[in-house]
Amino acid sequence: MTTVTAQIPLHEHVQSFVRTPRKMLIDGRWLDARSGKSFLTYNPATSGVLAQVAEGDRDDVNQAVAAARKAFEKGPWRKLTASERGKLIWKLADLLESHAEEFAQLESLDNGKPVGVARAADVPLAVDLFRYMAGWATKIEGHTIPISVPYTPGAQYLAYTLREPVGVVAQIIPWNFPLLMAAWKLGPALAAGCTVVLKPAEQTPLSALRLGELICEAGFPDGVVNVVSGFGETTGAALAAHPDVDKVAFTGSTEVGKLILGAAAGNLKKVSLELGGKSPNIVCKDADVDASIPGVSNAIFFNHGQCCCAGSRLFVEKGIFDKVIEGVAADAKKIKVGPGMDPTTQMGPLVSDEQQRRVLSYLESGFSQGAKAVVGGHKLGDKGYFVEPTVLVDTKQDMKVMQEEIFGPVVCAMPFTDVEEVLPAANNSIYGLAAAVWTRDISKAHRIAAELRAGTVWINCYNILDAALPFGGYKQSGWGREMGHDALELYTEVKAVTVRL
Ligand code: NAP
Ligand code: MG
Repeated sequence: MTTVTAQIPLHEHVQSFVRTPRKMLIDGRWLDARSGKSFLTYNPATSGVLAQVAEGDRDDVNQAVAAARKAFEKGPWRKLTASERGKLIWKLADLLESHAEEFAQLESLDNGKPVGVARAADVPLAVDLFRYMAGWATKIEGHTIPISVPYTPGAQYLAYTLREPVGVVAQIIPWNFPLLMAAWKLGPALAAGCTVVLKPAEQTPLSALRLGELICEAGFPDGVVNVVSGFGETTGAALAAHPDVDKVAFTGSTEVGKLILGAAAGNLKKVSLELGGKSPNIVCKDADVDASIPGVSNAIFFNHGQCCCAGSRLFVEKGIFDKVIEGVAADAKKIKVGPGMDPTTQMGPLVSDEQQRRVLSYLESGFSQGAKAVVGGHKLGDKGYFVEPTVLVDTKQDMKVMQEEIFGPVVCAMPFTDVEEVLPAANNSIYGLAAAVWTRDISKAHRIAAELRAGTVWINCYNILDAALPFGGYKQSGWGREMGHDALELYTEVKAVTVRL
């Protein structure tokens, strides 16, 4: 780990933002929890206290849902034109862009990611998502449908569909891309005309709360967006079970995704889920090996492996296995690990003490089942939640490290003989979020893409995401697609209207 402790100067707004106890946004007002409780968030680079945040619970959730309901049914939101909604979302994007440095720093302090990464990826991607969805507000259309109705001979009808907002939406988001996940959720919901109660992760509530301030500044009517901070088991569970919430959108672990589904059963609210992954990354002998090595490294080490689509299972064709592993191990050794606020840092700490322990226990499990670390394999330093970038070999399909989501900078590598062997191996997972193949053979690339059971397939690239591209999972990686115009389906209902002429 780097010993350099150079830190960029804290943006003055960030300084005051983290020093002041943070309240929740409910009905356009900033409120303490009704219980008066609060919790602390920690800087993952130092384990020191970062900020104090209101701890919402069922009462606050009830109040926020009531505000969202009022804004949906009676407030000015309902009367805004689609164009006015789009303009507000665009304005939010502009405000976010003009506060980009502040958000990059908040994200780095709260989550641990390098500030340079937050500047280059998290913040601009969130801005772009809002702009993309702002454009959709005016393009949510129904169809006219020719109908025949054989049991009313001679009658004539005009039939058309309307796409209407689903209503009050609960959105529960994780800690790995706190701002970006808020944008993925809020953008399409607002474009569709829904109202929202957003719950950020307990580890990383700050950027969503700051975004709440910009939402007020942009001029969204009161109650359209409410941000309730708190814990999953209380705030999150109350939202998922709430009888007056029409839809819940969740990103996080598959385990909690199943709890959300159970909680949603009470009023059969609509559910969309973006869950875990164990994505296969396949490097064929005929690939441009020199280009694939940095691609493979980026696939697993970006965001410290804390990506639902991380390329965590690496399959390399025999003949180039040693070369690729050596290359990825060399990349891993070169990565400068350190505090996110050090501008030279390339990889920060994991998000929390709990996450560090989880990743280390996976490493122990891998070693006890016979896996070996070519590089890494340990925690780093004695403060903060650092783990070494790790490449595991001698892995077997049935090992826990090959089957379960580690969500850390750990890739499990295996050699393969041919496409017939690697395809079932790649698909041998309860997950199906993403996958990649590296080859110069274009027919083979498309054949493999067709066979992979995953919501996203990258060919000769990895982690290429765009606001216009749908993202989501097969199998236990989730339900529904976020981003792209598919995301609007998550937030709209279709109404068929039939007129007898
Ligand atoms: P998690 O528990 O699934 O948390 C995701 C969100 O759900 C957080 O806002 C969380 O609140 C909330 N939540 C937790 N329990 C809930 C419940 N019973 N009802 C409603 N909401 C609830 O994820 P985690 O514990 O932070 O991480 C565990 C593992 O999940 C990771 O190791 C990783 O494998 C996976 N994960 C996946 C993603 C992804 O993008 N797919 C993201 C994060 C984590 P709290 O923060 O207060 O618990
Ligand atoms: Mg949790």
